[in-house]
Amino acid sequence: MAKTLPKTPFQLNGGCFCSAIRYTISVPELSERKEIPKFGATPDRLLTPLNEVNERMPIVTLDHCNSCRRVPGVILDSWVICPLSWVEFTLQPRISSLESPDEKEPFKVEALAYLKEATSLPERTYIIHFKSSECSNRTFCGKCGTHLTFWFDGPKSPLRQALGDFFDIATGTLDKESVEIEGFGPIMQMWADNGINWVTKLVNEGKKGLLGDEADNLSQLKEEEVKK
Ligand SMILES: [Zn+2]
Repeated sequence: MAKTLPKTPFQLNGGCFCSAIRYTISVPELSERKEIPKFGATPDRLLTPLNEVNERMPIVTLDHCNSCRRVPGVILDSWVICPLSWVEFTLQPRISSLESPDEKEPFKVEALAYLKEATSLPERTYIIHFKSSECSNRTFCGKCGTHLTFWFDGPKSPLRQALGDFFDIATGTLDKESVEIEGFGPIMQMWADNGINWVTKLVNEGKKGLLGDEADNLSQLKEEEVKK
């Protein structure tokens, strides 16, 4: 049976490359995690069978959509989807060349305050907001450029209504220790129809999808190398 995330409360930590923006995701015990409605986890999207743990938030996805490829400049994106209420950000205040870094302590903000564009945070910290479409809100670190979050604040589809207030955190911004905890991994792929042909093949068929019959030649070569 596939390994699952812990059923007891646990934390995931991450942040941008330079640590001017850090966050903690506090996952509560299993019974307090929201279930994914079945119409969201359709068979063509699923990468692993659902069980009592991975059918609930946090949902880790692979995302083939064009915007999420272009904005961070990755061939395939991945998100950790979780309720706003689970996440707290720690922001380093902006420091001018005349100030000593010791004079300004990082401070904590709730996810909604971090995600909303109309606050004083962009003046006081390194957060940058960018709308990739009318209701698609993204954040970046203005110091190192890391793309951290995606938040849709438009009309709610039935799926979005059922899931409640949630947003996406770029999986690649998690600390390695968090990405590698037991049971962590993508359970769904989204927007595969928009995907780059060879990337969707790689996800669905592995090395064989990328190389075709050449994959067999490659493993043969490796075996021969080992024998030498
Ligand atoms: Zn940064």
